[in-house]
Amino acid sequence: MKKILFAGICILIVLFTTSCSNGEKRFVFDGTVQGTYYHIVIYNDDSTGFRQGFDSIFTCIDNSVSLWVRNSLLSRVNRNENVILDDIFKDNFIAAQRMNKLTEGALDITVGALVKSYGFSTQRRTNLSQRQINDMLKYVGMDKVFISGNKLIKKYPQTQIDFNAIAQGYTTDMITKYLDNKGIKSFLIDVGGEVYARGLKPKKEKWKVAIEQPTKSSDEERSYNATVSLKDESIVTSGSYRKFYEENGVKYSHTIDPKTGRPVRHSLLSVSVIAKDATTADGLATSFMVLGLNKSIEFLQNHKEYSAYFIYSDSNGELKIWYNDSFKNYLN
Ligand code: ADP
Ligand code: MG
Repeated sequence: MKKILFAGICILIVLFTTSCSNGEKRFVFDGTVQGTYYHIVIYNDDSTGFRQGFDSIFTCIDNSVSLWVRNSLLSRVNRNENVILDDIFKDNFIAAQRMNKLTEGALDITVGALVKSYGFSTQRRTNLSQRQINDMLKYVGMDKVFISGNKLIKKYPQTQIDFNAIAQGYTTDMITKYLDNKGIKSFLIDVGGEVYARGLKPKKEKWKVAIEQPTKSSDEERSYNATVSLKDESIVTSGSYRKFYEENGVKYSHTIDPKTGRPVRHSLLSVSVIAKDATTADGLATSFMVLGLNKSIEFLQNHKEYSAYFIYSDSNGELKIWYNDSFKNYLN
């Protein structure tokens, strides 16, 4: 759900083409959605109707939670119109509440006004004074918005919502549900770097996914840093190395620390998270960018159910890698 400022592929997919013994074929669907790409591979005997299925899911999600669709439910909520919420909006809101609690406020969808004012979504970057930031922080916080019935209630009309930190992961999860309901046993979904791998490939291999090597500039050629093998898991990578802006030689990411109201600025270049679903992996990846290396490591020590791989630069500017024990099981 992000308008990608710089071409934003966070993960390269390494696909090993296989021929199937049981008559199933490999079908690949490529396209663009939500300002980024999608890449879906399925093993099935037929490909009829899938593309239309994907497109209608994308359209429904855009019409509900996109900031770039002028009359989406979210755009209308942000204009304080009287809106009846749909299930997609409610799902995203409930996921955002869950992620906010889990990360003790690192993920907070009420940063919308700050995101807009910094110009991350428009490429018209502006500086904000401490006073402007303080003014906006009054309206940031998950305690200032709630759902009652089919309505979103805001304590203050100034509060603006931004689902971009989880909406792409949510989209990946919706496509997963759709393919599961169609009875597809083996597939891989990648919506702009939010990946889900279902089942095994025909030769009983897990799906291989590569973690991209951070580059110094956003247009440098892509290479990969490591590969992981997945089955019934999601991997999401958030990187500050492609989407950032530079001011006085300092790089800032497009992620905002909801506590300070400022764009985060630290040594983490790329965060990859493996979780059972893509919404959670997406939310955690963004949250780790907010928390930074040390606090994220602390979080993972208390939450062993998540696996994470960090690429950061040390004080000499050298690329370094840290990952937790459970991530080791996925590395090739
Ligand atoms: P990417 O995967 O492209 O790195 P993310 O999933 O990390 O993107 O989402 C970043 C987007 O989320 C930002 O562009 C902004 O719209 C929004 N955002 C920024 N900071 C936060 C935050 N602390 N909590 C929730 N959403 C945020
Ligand atoms: Mg995210």
